[in-house]
Amino acid sequence: MAIRPILLHPDSRLKKRAAPIGVPTNAHRALAEDMLATMYDAPGIGLAAPQVGVLERMIVMDCEKEEGATPRPLVLIDPEIAWSSEERNVYEEGCLSIPEQFADVERPSAVTVRWTDPGGERREETFDGLWATCVQHEIDHLDGVLFIDHVGPMKRQLITRKALKMKKERAREAS
Ligand SMILES: [Zn+2]
Repeated sequence: MAIRPILLHPDSRLKKRAAPIGVPTNAHRALAEDMLATMYDAPGIGLAAPQVGVLERMIVMDCEKEEGATPRPLVLIDPEIAWSSEERNVYEEGCLSIPEQFADVERPSAVTVRWTDPGGERREETFDGLWATCVQHEIDHLDGVLFIDHVGPMKRQLITRKALKMKKERAREAS
């Protein structure tokens, strides 16, 4: 298990469509463990494989944020949204690839998702609340879509300018 570096926006790999996985291998199970470790370390509630530079359709999440809550790590391979509620709600979203930037994003308030688990079993679950927002945000990453693609162009440009500045600062600190 290893913590992997998280790609920071802007990065062309965050704009690409990730490839389906099909039957998960041991390498995919190892990647899932690394992604969960990386997500908890950040800390964050969701992470998609393209964020660690792997252009395959896998996401991990755990939205049990309350202190003392039992962790609920989920690994979703080839996730698909099978149903979306007509009711929508707005959450202030952030992203591990766009540190310290947040924006209100409106999405369906509940979604039913089908996916393959690391053991190769097909699963289905209906998510609501923060889980629904998170799973849609992470599935977007598999299609090269960031949360800032859901906000107006002015806000998107502002966040991208700030993100680019932070990315340069971090690169300078690391060198
Ligand atoms: Zn994200």
